[in-house]
Amino acid sequence: MSSYAPATPSPTPPVGHLDLVPTPTGDIPTIVDAARAAYDHGVTRSYDARIARLRALRAVLVDGEAELLEALRADLRKPDIEGWATDIAVTIGEIDFMMKHLRRWMRPERVRLPLASMPGRARVVREPLGVALVIAPWNYPVQLMIGPMAAAIAAGNAVVGKPSELAPTVATTLGTLIARHLPGDEVGIVQGGVEETTVLLEQRFDHILYTGNGRVARVVMEAAAKHLTPVTLELGGKSPAIVAADADVATAAKRIAWGKFLNAGQTCIAPDHVLVDRRVEAAFNDALVGAISEFYGVDPRQSPDYARIVNAGHFRRLEKYLGEGQVIHGGETDADDLFISPTVITDVEPGAAVMTDEIFGPVLPIVAVDDVEAAIAHVNAHDKPLALYVFSRSRATSDRVLAATSSGGACVNHVVYHVAAPGLPFGGVGPSGMGAYHGRAGFETFSHRRSVLSKPTTIDPPVAYPPFTEAKKRLIRRFL
Ligand code: NAD
Repeated sequence: MSSYAPATPSPTPPVGHLDLVPTPTGDIPTIVDAARAAYDHGVTRSYDARIARLRALRAVLVDGEAELLEALRADLRKPDIEGWATDIAVTIGEIDFMMKHLRRWMRPERVRLPLASMPGRARVVREPLGVALVIAPWNYPVQLMIGPMAAAIAAGNAVVGKPSELAPTVATTLGTLIARHLPGDEVGIVQGGVEETTVLLEQRFDHILYTGNGRVARVVMEAAAKHLTPVTLELGGKSPAIVAADADVATAAKRIAWGKFLNAGQTCIAPDHVLVDRRVEAAFNDALVGAISEFYGVDPRQSPDYARIVNAGHFRRLEKYLGEGQVIHGGETDADDLFISPTVITDVEPGAAVMTDEIFGPVLPIVAVDDVEAAIAHVNAHDKPLALYVFSRSRATSDRVLAATSSGGACVNHVVYHVAAPGLPFGGVGPSGMGAYHGRAGFETFSHRRSVLSKPTTIDPPVAYPPFTEAKKRLIRRFL
């Protein structure tokens, strides 16, 4: 579970930075009421309306690409290609997948009836829930706002979004773009931090999807409980990467380095730490350091492909981890630039904060273990993670790891990629979250499965009704 320092602003606001203008708290109930009124009028429900809104949401990303990339640069110094791939393209892919399959997902599902209920017709109808709330974090601030919103819209809901105040330029830009492309009553945006979100959570919603840390998730769930509102919680945790003795070590090192240092490690499904079989530890570490140097050069500060830490609070939190092990690569920091170089540490005590907190930054501890069984024991001694990665050339080994552990999602011989497959539900388990979305899972999350039974009136066998004669009883016992 993460334990973050309180947020503080960047020391020197970067170029293009926009300050957030919070929504006046008095306006928040009005925004939610407007969404409810739109939903109650039925304007969000039809297939055509859903497709039109999904197209508009797509246009937010396509027409707003340049503005959004600039905003991502201002808030996180996110490299353009990284911002495009992980915030924009993947979200467009998600929307396209929904548009392609929506008609089929919306189709009522025929269900067979038992003999006793015949004649009749049974079906499961997916209906919208009403007004959904999506609360997003700062690390992939476009994907994690628009993706869940798309799922809510695909399911026929009105939706209110609350971007993270810690990515204020993206939050502001998203607010402007969404207001430009979508009807403000059906798709509302509330801006702000704790104060505004607290007021927002006092309103009644029909579903809340929250992405962020476990501490705030408890606040969200408690507020939701007051209205018996169901929640989807997309949280984090310490996602391990297991490197077995028979792994393709060079490929494992390259892929782990890529997934870890993407967005400077501020990725919910980044490998948090590596559990490497000690027989290949030295070779793995060499390959890892080689991969990092190849990706980001001798001075990663000069690399156009390396992001920065989101703010001074997170920078200070991460800086402390550097002293908790032996730095075998990286370790350079610059507080003014919110820069921490891609760092690898070894010799870490199991009780050190870097081994108990979710790291959520560019510090990668390497823990040597005796074998895969020891790695499994390590994983199972901790909270169920959001993701688990296993590197092995043997199918039996990866199957063993998957069968003996649990995690929100998993990859064999890669990291992170499962998030980008819309056919795979994305979510955590236990402390890493509850519920899932992406593709059909998102549509289902924001839908109610209504069971509908239709009976003809022309046939109405008297056997079902009292008085129950002995003959009727015999028939009932036979056919029920
Ligand atoms: P954050 O600080 O931006 O918080 C997330 C949201 O919670 C924001 O919109 C914020 O305004 C709101 N919030 C903060 N305090 C609140 C309060 N007291 N009451 C109500 N709302 C409040 O983001 P974060 O939590 O620092 O995000 C990082 C965490 O999110 C990590 O644990 C990471 O693993 C997790 N995460 C998970 C996923 C996923 O898909 N599972 C994705 C990204 C991040």
